[in-house]
Amino acid sequence: MTGQVDKNKVIAVLEEIAILLELKNEIVFKVRAYENAARALEGSPRDLDELVETGELSKLKGIGAHLEAIILDLYRNGRSVEYETMRREFPDTLFELFRVPGLGAKRIKVLYEKLKIKSVADLEKACLENRLSALEGFGAKSQGKILLGVLHFKKSRGHFRIDFAEHESGKISGYLRGQKGIMKMEVAGSIRRRKEIVKDIDILVSAQNPQAIHDAFVRYPETESVIAHGDTKSGIVLKSGMNCDLRTVSVKEFPCALYYFTGSKEHNVAVRTLAKKQSIKINEYGLFKGKKVIPCPDEAAIFKMLGLHFIPPELRENDGEIEFAGKKPIPPLIEENEIRGLLHVHTTASDGVASLEDMVRACEEKGYAYVGISDHSQSARYANGLDMARLKKQWKEIDQWQKKFKIRIFKGIESDIRADGRLDYPDAVLAELDFVIGAIHGGFQMSEKEMTERIRRAMENKFMTVLAHPTGRLLLEREPYAVDLMKLIDCAEKCGIVMELNAHPSRLDLDWRMCRVAKSKGVTVGIHPDAHSVEGLDVIRYGIGIARKGWLEKKDVLNALSLAKVEAFLKKRK
Ligand SMILES: [Zn+2]
Ligand SMILES: [Zn+2]
Repeated sequence: MTGQVDKNKVIAVLEEIAILLELKNEIVFKVRAYENAARALEGSPRDLDELVETGELSKLKGIGAHLEAIILDLYRNGRSVEYETMRREFPDTLFELFRVPGLGAKRIKVLYEKLKIKSVADLEKACLENRLSALEGFGAKSQGKILLGVLHFKKSRGHFRIDFAEHESGKISGYLRGQKGIMKMEVAGSIRRRKEIVKDIDILVSAQNPQAIHDAFVRYPETESVIAHGDTKSGIVLKSGMNCDLRTVSVKEFPCALYYFTGSKEHNVAVRTLAKKQSIKINEYGLFKGKKVIPCPDEAAIFKMLGLHFIPPELRENDGEIEFAGKKPIPPLIEENEIRGLLHVHTTASDGVASLEDMVRACEEKGYAYVGISDHSQSARYANGLDMARLKKQWKEIDQWQKKFKIRIFKGIESDIRADGRLDYPDAVLAELDFVIGAIHGGFQMSEKEMTERIRRAMENKFMTVLAHPTGRLLLEREPYAVDLMKLIDCAEKCGIVMELNAHPSRLDLDWRMCRVAKSKGVTVGIHPDAHSVEGLDVIRYGIGIARKGWLEKKDVLNALSLAKVEAFLKKRK
């Protein structure tokens, strides 16, 4: 990237401007202009650098001179005066409201204007005083839902998704790397363990002049406040609300410090107890036998000294990994470069923003051997789902593109599982598809028994291949629906269904704890991007992190199979 910001940042700013305009009562046309520009950027397969350099930015549909100027301002200067001026008209706390589930710009506007609600605290008070129920367009029921949303917000505050945490840690590590005299640096903690939710960033550094690094650290431009400023340990709160800690140690201490600060705490406690039995002391400064330091050039040496096989960071959760590594080597966990193809890819035929051609080309360019197109099915009206005629039209289109591309294109569908457990097309149509992903997208309010039964019935359909995002959770946004996942995994084993590990960082569903259960029962897991844009294909790395946390190996993963093997697998399903 040569610009100050990337495409995602620009999209986020444009979306926020649209919301601000709505709050300011601007005409719909103006609001839409920003929303459309955001969609156009999202839909373009190019990154921002390319768009600016080639001058293609202004040629994108919906980006006129004014919008181009704002985007270029952001690109070149990292800020937009127009946006900042607009934002200053509203209190900062107002923006918290957008993180309350069930509240969109329109409702926030009503609450702001009619009830003078400017923060989540105001909102909670208004709900408790029963003031929302009398408001037009709200009512007692939605007041109850909003209050639940507020509780959810309070619970999730200070928690961040892995993609956001990684973005933030990447920026600050990049900044630190630009300082003089850095000898070693790693991001430790739960980011290194690839947890789906992260609370803070832990950075570990060895430097020639540690004090200078700490001084630079607290001057990081995106610092909101400084909690501690020392010469071995400093802590800041970032503008995003995330905490970030920096530790500096000597190069000699680095491996033990990295191990210590990677955690988890529970893992560390268990390892310390194990070490004690061998009269070894282990802490962030090193490994000691009595007063004698045991030299450890890297983490592997630490494990070796303790009589353990190496435990990859993702597994360090004190969930049986220490006992396992005491007996035998940890199996080789799946690596991103072992992924041979991607299934679960959307296009503009339903709610994707890139065309079939763009999605297929992107997969081919990334070196995949196959791609599985699966747009939404006919009852998914909210997502422009395909009726049978449009589905068949897509097959023709795929046949056409197949002649031009080397990558194998599979015909699939993401079929809604209806309330009674039926899939969304007659068997005769399903039979013509290469694969069928069954998914729950509505009717969440069922009892656990009903929901489990609903999904079980769908899994018994011999045309279903994969169960998508098995619990429907949206991390930090929506709780999973009630379902007996153990029963579903048993059912997957019986019916030969693949359990999806949806790699989108808002889902990461199947959960890693359950990946391990699936593996133990011999159930295959598919790591799927659920991509709605070309960039959406890149989320696969988050899925890999979770798969590794779930002990999955190449042999456990559907899309780590070669093209010939995956073809055979899909055929067998029918
Ligand atoms: Zn879905
Ligand atoms: Zn999908």
